[in-house]
Amino acid sequence: MKIICIGRNYAKHIEELANERPAEPVVFMKPDSAVLLKKNPFIIPPFSQDIHYEVEVLVKINKIGKFIDQKFAHKYYEEIGLGIDFTARDLQQTLKEKGLPWEKAKAFDGSAVIGKYYNKKEFDLSALKFQLIKNGTVVQDGDSSHMLWKIDELIAYVSQFFTLKIGDVIFTGTPAGVGRVAANDTLLGTLEGREMFHIKIK
Ligand code: ZN
Repeated sequence: MKIICIGRNYAKHIEELANERPAEPVVFMKPDSAVLLKKNPFIIPPFSQDIHYEVEVLVKINKIGKFIDQKFAHKYYEEIGLGIDFTARDLQQTLKEKGLPWEKAKAFDGSAVIGKYYNKKEFDLSALKFQLIKNGTVVQDGDSSHMLWKIDELIAYVSQFFTLKIGDVIFTGTPAGVGRVAANDTLLGTLEGREMFHIKIK
């Protein structure tokens, strides 16, 4: 299974990191070893002093596909979830400045939180409301209607480069409000009011 992540998919998040608005989706990957095992805490890795949470809507691929037409993209997923793309922001900044790949900052062990999934039929995908709550305070308040590229567009786009396989997960990008985690923080993710994950930072 592979994890395909989309960067810079919400205008306000692009602004908060002072990034350029991309002409095409920004795509990067995480290996399966990045998945944080269920019920495990997230342990801050020794190579970063600035680990950020990024809450994101997840799409689980349920059919193999390549060069998927946008109008058929909805046939390639049944379930929607919520997760965190943990990012070593200090390391990412250094890599970006040098024009180097982001893997060390984005794809390290435990950097992919994958919460529960629900059938997409239970939601209006064009206006999914989701939140990240840190220590009881809402820090990210997302709405999929603000995505620059919608789920079906992302599937069509990434499948030009990568064959999508059953069980692959697409992280669809984070809204504004990203920030640092510290030991003893708790992070709760909700999608349309449903608890999707609840993790502790160590
Ligand atoms: Zn992200």
